[in-house]
Amino acid sequence: MRYVGRFAPSPTGPLHLGSLLAAVGSYLDARNAAGRWLLRIDDIDGARCRPAWSDQLRSTLRHFALHHDDEPVWQSARGARYAAALRQLTERDLLFRCRCTRRELAEEGEPCCVRDCRRHDYPLTESSLRLDLSALPALDTVDRSLGVIRFDPNLQRDVVVQRRDGVIAYQLAVVVDDTDQGITDVVRGADLLATTGLQLAIHHALGLNPPRYLHLPVLTEADGSKLAKSRYSAALDETAAASLLRRSLDYLQQAQPPPQIQRPSELLHSAVLSWDPARLVGLSEVRLSSD
Ligand code: GLU
Repeated sequence: MRYVGRFAPSPTGPLHLGSLLAAVGSYLDARNAAGRWLLRIDDIDGARCRPAWSDQLRSTLRHFALHHDDEPVWQSARGARYAAALRQLTERDLLFRCRCTRRELAEEGEPCCVRDCRRHDYPLTESSLRLDLSALPALDTVDRSLGVIRFDPNLQRDVVVQRRDGVIAYQLAVVVDDTDQGITDVVRGADLLATTGLQLAIHHALGLNPPRYLHLPVLTEADGSKLAKSRYSAALDETAAASLLRRSLDYLQQAQPPPQIQRPSELLHSAVLSWDPARLVGLSEVRLSSD
């Protein structure tokens, strides 16, 4: 099966160094496999996403010569596909309506539901829809870097697939999109590892095969602490694309292209040829270098 990869940023702000690692890693993995690399704009949550950020992130990708195939896919235009998936889950009797608030669940610390929502039939307008995990088996996948990722339904809260305000939950959208786009390989930051089990569960509930996963190391401060918010949210400097690409290659443990190569497109061309994901095995975090 021909490799199809993707980069799926949420336009809630500019691309930052962490998102650049995900873009570069997924791009190199796809191109090294002579595969396609697609762009999806994860703008399902209209309240947090802005068209201006989508424009900016597309411009940033161009400056970094991270050219994708096909037209981008926009989650905001795919409501009908998500509704069809919800119908399918309803027909399989895998959903229930829940009125627990986030705060109640956090205070309780218990898996859903503090109100025993499964036993009630609340009006849809006042409830979120959750996937009933008790109906699912334990599931495994082998991440290409981090090894076995296990989904144990007994250790997870039933996952929300439609929020109380009617917005489709991000986890469901990702599964439907990755499937419809024919994604064979998801390459993304290990900060999203916790969502992978839930996505495996949704794939299973919809009778779909999950893609292969490669989770890239998360960038931390030099002392190993979480990346400072200011640094995390700092926009990438488009005029420094070449040096930022070289830094990304270092963080991804990849060989540096010869020093005379300076254009982003040529740097990436060289990096595609030497891409070696085996260098990432077991690496869940990389520390920011001082320069
Ligand atoms: N849209 C997600 C984000 O920007 C990434 C989704 C994914 O790669 O699965 O964090």
